[in-house]
Amino acid sequence: LTTGALIAQMLVDPVGMILRWYDELQVAQVSLARLVGVRDIEPDAGDPSVAPEGRHVHADRVHFGYLEGVDVLRKVSLEVSPGTRLALVGPSGAGKSTLGRLLAGIYAPRDGRITLGSAELSRMPAERVRSHVALVNQEHHVFVGSLRDNLRLARTGAVDAELWAALGAVDADGWARALDEGLDTEVGSGGLALTPAQAQQIALARLVLADPHTLVLDEATSLLDPRAARNLERSLARVLDGRTVVAIAHRLHTAHDADVIAVVENGRISELGSHEELVAADGAYAALWRSWHG
Ligand code: ADP
Ligand code: MG
Repeated sequence: LTTGALIAQMLVDPVGMILRWYDELQVAQVSLARLVGVRDIEPDAGDPSVAPEGRHVHADRVHFGYLEGVDVLRKVSLEVSPGTRLALVGPSGAGKSTLGRLLAGIYAPRDGRITLGSAELSRMPAERVRSHVALVNQEHHVFVGSLRDNLRLARTGAVDAELWAALGAVDADGWARALDEGLDTEVGSGGLALTPAQAQQIALARLVLADPHTLVLDEATSLLDPRAARNLERSLARVLDGRTVVAIAHRLHTAHDADVIAVVENGRISELGSHEELVAADGAYAALWRSWHG
């Protein structure tokens, strides 16, 4: 990926691009955030001696707001054990995506702590955070550049065999091998137009390459046709297997299948427990579950 392509995209939509692409930008070790002055995003910050022992994710009385004086998260505490799944549910605007960004180390708490094992996320170099935790959402997965560039964002030194293996792991090698120019194919605006499903496969292939042990998954209401959605879901299930997952859930089964569910309402966690516990408690989750259940 060329710096020129990044800058071109940045000029069109600077802040939006940084927010959407922050994780990939960090992997590419491009500190564009500094150029546009996005607060709390400091790719080069952090103490190189801070490394996590262990994989427990722990939020301890976290406060956060994007703007001074406007609280988006208040006193949020939760724990996710290695290899388990936490689902965040709750009304739109409650702070779920924001909490996801904090758990992925994209923003630092204003107060309180988020730790990964023994280390505070905001004290770790961003690149190291990236190697442990990734944020996955469904926005703008493809950059202007070759298919190879797009994949290598996740691991700069990856060789073609590794890129093909990653594409294979997410069932994208079939269509990718059929491209005349293979990994050299230009994608993104001006290049080959990928379908939404293909773009999401690229994002998943990047995850396979980056191989973080913890994933924050910000589910969106799917724009895919049912068959493409099912195929992608299968690939995603394989990618998630064995990792710690925090899933922002808009669907019944994502919440139901989680080990722990946290209900986020108005910047706070109002309920925390398993599906059975929360249904028995007959509160906000139980109401949500009944509405999802039809
Ligand atoms: P949810 O994911 O639960 O719908 P969000 O975390 O997206 O909620 O939003 C929580 C609050 O933070 C909302 O009031 C929203 O308008 C605000 N917010 C979200 N993202 C930003 C941002 N990048 N800058 C400023 N405010 C934001
Ligand atoms: Mg959201």
